[in-house]
Amino acid sequence: MNTSEYKSFLHICNRNLNNSDFEVFNPKSTIHSTFNDIDKLKNQAYRVRQKFINNIVDNLLLFEKNLLSNKGKINWCLSYEDFTEQLLDLLSNKKIKSVNAFFSNFTEELGLKETLKNEGISSFSNENKCSILSPDLAVVDTASMFSVFDSVFEMELFLDSKIKICILPINKFICNISDIDIFTHIFSIYKKNTSFPILSNIFTPSAFDTNKETYVFIVDNSRSNLLAFKEQRRILSCIDCGACKKVCPVYQSIKDEPYSNTITGPVANVMLPYLENYENYKHLSYNCLLCGNCSSVCPVNLSIPDLILENRKFFFENKILDFEDNLLIISLKKFFLKRKKMNSKSWYKRYLLRRIIPKTTRKLVYIPTFSKRTFNQIQQDKI
Ligand code: SF4
Repeated sequence: MNTSEYKSFLHICNRNLNNSDFEVFNPKSTIHSTFNDIDKLKNQAYRVRQKFINNIVDNLLLFEKNLLSNKGKINWCLSYEDFTEQLLDLLSNKKIKSVNAFFSNFTEELGLKETLKNEGISSFSNENKCSILSPDLAVVDTASMFSVFDSVFEMELFLDSKIKICILPINKFICNISDIDIFTHIFSIYKKNTSFPILSNIFTPSAFDTNKETYVFIVDNSRSNLLAFKEQRRILSCIDCGACKKVCPVYQSIKDEPYSNTITGPVANVMLPYLENYENYKHLSYNCLLCGNCSSVCPVNLSIPDLILENRKFFFENKILDFEDNLLIISLKKFFLKRKKMNSKSWYKRYLLRRIIPKTTRKLVYIPTFSKRTFNQIQQDKI
C-alpha cells in the first residue's frame, strides 16, 4: 500500500474514531480495582525499562555473565537467519526430533513454526525433553526469565523440560528482580485484562541442577538500528502487551494485512522503517491520526504520537519521503510561517492552500475553511 492509499484510510479511521463503532479496550475498570495510582505504576514501569535500554550493551553483557555463572548457555544472533542456523545446530547436536514449542509474536517474527515444520521437528512432544519459549521479560541481575502461561499444564511442561531454550529480543529485559512485581501487575491488566494475578513464573537456571540445561538465544534482528536514534529508541521499552492495538482507530480499521509483516499496529508504525527498510515502510509514519489513544493506555508510558512525529521529521529532513511529499511539506511550511499570508483573507488562504496541495491529495483530504480573523489579528486589536 502506498502513502496516498494509506492517507485515504485515515478518513475511514477518523470516522471510526468519532463513532467508536469498534470494541474499545478499557482497562480502567480493572485498574481501579487493583491500584490506587496507575500513573505512578506506569511511570515506574517506564523508568525501569529505560534504565535497561539506556545502558543496553553493558546490561546484556552483565546478563551473559550472570547466566554463565548459573551454568546457562548463551547464543547471540544477529538476524533471524543466524538464529535459525544456531537453533537447528543445537537441535541436531542434541538429536532432538520433537519439542514443546510455545509460540508468541516474537517466535512468529523469527519464523520458528515454519522452521520446525520444514525440518520435520514436531512442535509438541510427549517426552518432555526440550521446550522452546520466548519469555515475556528477562532479568539481568539474576539471569532469570519471566513468563506468563495460559495454564498450569503448560507451565509444568516448560519447567520439567530437560533442555530449555529461551528466545529473547535484545530489548526484553529489566535490570533488577525487585522490579518484576510491577510487570506481573501490568501483564495481568494489559495483556489479560484481569484484576487477578495471572499465571506467571520466574525461572532461574541453577548451577546445581546438573540434569537440566538452559540455552538463551538473544536475537537482534535489526533492533539495534534504533539505538542510534535518541528519541525513537524509546520504542524498545515496549513490552508487547498489545493494549495500543486495541484502542488504535487506524489499526482497528485496517488490521494486520496491510503491514505485510509480523509486527503490526502502532508499534510497527514507529519501528518497521528501522527494522526493515525506509523505502517500503516510511509511509507507516502517516498511518496515524495522532489521536493519542495509544499513549494514554500504554503501561510503560510510551508516547507513540511523539515518536511518529520524530519519524516524520527525520524522514523529511533526510529526504527519505517521496519527492512530491517532501515538496508539499516545504511549500506548506513556507505558507504557514509567513505572517502576511496567514493574515490575509480567509477565502484567499483557502485558495492558496488548494494551489499548493496537489490534485490527487486534494481528493483525499479536507481543505479547512479558515476563520475570518487570526489570533494575531485579534491580539493586535486588543493592544
Ligand atoms: S507500545 Fe503498545 S504494545 Fe507496547 S507496551 Fe505500550 S501499549 Fe503495550
